[in-house]
Amino acid sequence: MPATGRIDLHAHSSVSDGTQSPAELVAAAAEAGLEVVALTDHDSTAGWAEALDAASGMGVTVLPGMELSTQLDFASVHVLAYLVDPAHPRLVAETARIREERLHRAESMVARIGRDYELSWDDVLAQTTPGGTIGRPHIADALVARGHVADRTAAFQSILHWRGGYYAPHEAPSPLAGVELVVEAGGVPVIAHPGARGPDHVLTRRRLEELVDAGLFGVEIEHRDNPPAAREKWSALARRYGLVETGSSDYHGAGKPNLLGEHTTSRAVYEAILARGTGTRVA
Ligand code: AMP
Ligand code: FE
Ligand code: FE
Ligand code: ZN
Repeated sequence: MPATGRIDLHAHSSVSDGTQSPAELVAAAAEAGLEVVALTDHDSTAGWAEALDAASGMGVTVLPGMELSTQLDFASVHVLAYLVDPAHPRLVAETARIREERLHRAESMVARIGRDYELSWDDVLAQTTPGGTIGRPHIADALVARGHVADRTAAFQSILHWRGGYYAPHEAPSPLAGVELVVEAGGVPVIAHPGARGPDHVLTRRRLEELVDAGLFGVEIEHRDNPPAAREKWSALARRYGLVETGSSDYHGAGKPNLLGEHTTSRAVYEAILARGTGTRVA
């Protein structure tokens, strides 16, 4: 077995802002030659059953996970949460609350956009999966369907940009509260794309130390949203604080250019995550 290359620990399905169903995502992972794919929908574990079901017989292992939204000083910090107990009452309640906040925030963004562009809330709903986690990508898809922009990327660079005039943040717990919650739910917390603008700006050394003390397990280093200098910085921090380093694609189907397996995680780190998580067992 190779030490690296076939373990991708961050991917989205249509349960959040990916464009493929969980089963389709697993099939795409098999097609891409992956051994392990983590399903990490935003603030939801609703895709797990379908993905785990699809994986049996397909030669791919699904690592059940989630990408928990947290907020600090108006910046989004995403916490990957592997092997949480999906029935943990406080996790269930908090993620339901975050999805609700996301819904209100999307409605208010769409109301504002609707003053300047032909766009209704029904247009956005038409782009979502019932019960799924709503985000700007669904507003982007509605803008594309209406012909206002060419694709999601163009939408994010204009109307949906955080300085585009329509942006609103949504409420979410702090990164510290998020890490504590994931640990309480038996999960393994890893900061997603820490070198991206938001997290890199707000996660000071002192705040990182608080997360480490709360049980932070790793940081996602190999990811296309981490610029090279930030990878070096965060890799040095990982060594200093004894955090594991992961790598992943953050695949969203056709919703982003990211390709399954474009960055991967070592087998040793994957096994350390399996050994640490207690909320769910991987068969
Ligand atoms: P939100 O959490 O609703 O603010 O939306 C952010 C989400 O949009 C992230 O999780 C990304 O997956 C997605 N996203 C960010 N930038 C882009 C982009 N340029 N193209 C497609 N999706 C994007
Ligand atoms: Fe996303
Ligand atoms: Fe993210
Ligand atoms: Zn993601």
